[in-house]
Amino acid sequence: MSESTESESRKLLGRLREALAEDSAGQERLDKITHLIASSMGTEVCSIYLFRDSETLELCATEGLKAESVHQTRLRVGEGLVGRVAKSSHIINTADAPKEKGFRYMPETGEEIYSSFCGVPIQRLGENLGVLVVQSKEARDFSADETYALEVVAMVLAEMTELGAFVGEHDAMQARHRQSVLIKAGSAQEGTAEGHVWLHEPRVVVTNPIADDPETELKRLDEAVDTLRVGVDKMLEGAAGGDKEQLQVLEAYRMFANSKGWMKRMQSDIARGLSAEAAVEKEQSTARARMEQVTDAYLRERLHDLDDVSNRLLRILTGQGAQTGAELPADPILVARNIGPGELLEYGRSLRGIVLEEGSVGSHAAIVARALAIPLIIHADRITTEALNGDHIMVDGDQGIVHLRPDETVVNAFRDKIAMQAEAQERYASIRDKPATTLDGVTMSLTMNAGLMADLPSLEGSGAEGVGLFRTELQFLVRSQMPKRSELSALYARVMDAAKGKRVVFRTLDIGSDKVLPYMTPEDEPNPALGWRAIRVGLDKPGVMRMQLQALLRAANGRPLSVMFPFIAQYEEYTRAVWEMEKAKERERKLGHPLPEKLDLGAMLETPSLGFAPQKFFDEVGFLSIGGNDLKQFFFAADRENERVRKRYDTLNVSFLTFLEGIVARCNHNATPLSFCGEDAGRPLEALCLAAMGLRTLSMRPASIGPVKNLFRRVNLAEVRQVIIEARDQGEQSVRKPVKDYLAAQGIIV
Ligand code: PEP
Ligand code: MG
Repeated sequence: MSESTESESRKLLGRLREALAEDSAGQERLDKITHLIASSMGTEVCSIYLFRDSETLELCATEGLKAESVHQTRLRVGEGLVGRVAKSSHIINTADAPKEKGFRYMPETGEEIYSSFCGVPIQRLGENLGVLVVQSKEARDFSADETYALEVVAMVLAEMTELGAFVGEHDAMQARHRQSVLIKAGSAQEGTAEGHVWLHEPRVVVTNPIADDPETELKRLDEAVDTLRVGVDKMLEGAAGGDKEQLQVLEAYRMFANSKGWMKRMQSDIARGLSAEAAVEKEQSTARARMEQVTDAYLRERLHDLDDVSNRLLRILTGQGAQTGAELPADPILVARNIGPGELLEYGRSLRGIVLEEGSVGSHAAIVARALAIPLIIHADRITTEALNGDHIMVDGDQGIVHLRPDETVVNAFRDKIAMQAEAQERYASIRDKPATTLDGVTMSLTMNAGLMADLPSLEGSGAEGVGLFRTELQFLVRSQMPKRSELSALYARVMDAAKGKRVVFRTLDIGSDKVLPYMTPEDEPNPALGWRAIRVGLDKPGVMRMQLQALLRAANGRPLSVMFPFIAQYEEYTRAVWEMEKAKERERKLGHPLPEKLDLGAMLETPSLGFAPQKFFDEVGFLSIGGNDLKQFFFAADRENERVRKRYDTLNVSFLTFLEGIVARCNHNATPLSFCGEDAGRPLEALCLAAMGLRTLSMRPASIGPVKNLFRRVNLAEVRQVIIEARDQGEQSVRKPVKDYLAAQGIIV
């Protein structure tokens, strides 16, 4: 690129800046800008098209086309050359526009006399804002220098659009981020919430896209990249020997931070007149546009990494950290691309809901969201681009829908839904201290699942009889290093204190599969769900389990203690786990510490095999808890993490219910206490059918206790059982419909 073209480009940007600095209306500014660009590039036409809605572009200003077509000419995305530029985010540069694929002649513009066409997307961080076009009569291709100059100008236009420089009365010139947006996403935790957006990583605002002095900007960029490199190297040192995936990401960061090509492109952008931060953002926008088009998962990840690195660099350049000084709203709904469990816990109970652009049902964040009992939306496409701090937002975790800046009708309908749920909550509160007894006199025991200290207040509020499942792995997952025995024992003691004598069943560490500790090298397994997890890890490498058992004994400090072992697939695993507990007791006794006055040991039944264990196992085990989430995935061979299959088989499938019935029979035979603690226990219809199969203790999310108890108190369980048996005899695949129909006939809608 010659120095003269660089200085031409800088001159044009300088003029643009002057035009933008003038105190004029948005339309006037756009008109002036099209004039400036056309004269600087020596073209007869320069036009700016902006989006009036997500599907339609509108001609908002032109030099050269007929003035009456402004705000009249509209194109759909993909329609004509302009629409194609918007759709593909690629430049179209042609000497003979009418011959170009997709050309569409707009008669009202008078453009038929212009042969050459060059259209450049106006985009900012993956968001398409419009198209910048130049046209001329002379049939010629625009040179690489010229298209580059247009790209730089388009970048400045995008920044200025974002900053509201072109706001006017037409729809296409409305201030950005004002329209309401509906996002259909996935749900990882049910519930509804209304509140205001709190961006976990607020976007960096670039207020000075044009710079006078390239030397200064180049120096700023150099210094910032140096700081970036040092920072990435430090992160790499800190992560050495740790999680492989994290290391891979950091290696990618380092690669980008040292990439000569990336640096060179940003240097050229600066030479053209952009400020250092605008140059970073220009390259980031290009990467985001590519990300939208790339389907290869690995490449997408790498483009994400480049995006992260660009964000870091922007924060260094602008000095804008995550702390913007903005105050957390009173009703915050967290919006992020993704978030770790530790960060989420730091927000704690202040959050009303969470919306993630990525995320997964089984992620640690999802586990924490479940513990916090707040709705969690995942795969909310583009939410971090669309949402601004403080935006009004409504989250429907039941349907997996997000309403951003909703209009009045949506707000009203949504509030009706929340009000109905609140009414139901009041109804549940009124039966909180009443028993879960059915019309025919069967009393169910309803307990809650927990995993954090933050869960314990729910014990009283929900009316749960105790904690049927305390997932101890959460304390391990939210830390960056292995917790110490003293820390764990203090925590378990606090849990028991908070339970005020109610029973708490502690499950020993259940890691592996989807739950990978940040400080343990993950095993490279072909199928982690069927791999080295839970009790298998505990028995093969007993150090951690021993430490945990000791912490539990110490926390009990003489009080009764209940402990269960996860994922027991065969009798011998249980006896070995019990032996570990015996050894731990022995050690404690020797140390002179008091032992629990009663020690109740049990197993989780999460694999079908345990349902067929020898009689001796059922004789010996203190109690059994069915981990329905895992049991169901193995029973149907359908991965609970796999969106494609996880909802394919109904829990109320007669095969599954019959299997559960068999387990109940074996436990009844021996009077072995049995409970069910998978997610299904908290779904009223499912809970009812589990009870009809003979289960008498269910452990669930605290928020589910009210609805489940409310249903139990209104039904005759023997009749429900009869409906199930008849449906099974008639060869129904699932009893869902027959039971629902039966309930509806009783006036009960579930
Ligand atoms: C289960 O598998 O049902 C269970 C309760 O354990 P988790 O969901 O923690 O695997
Ligand atoms: Mg499980």
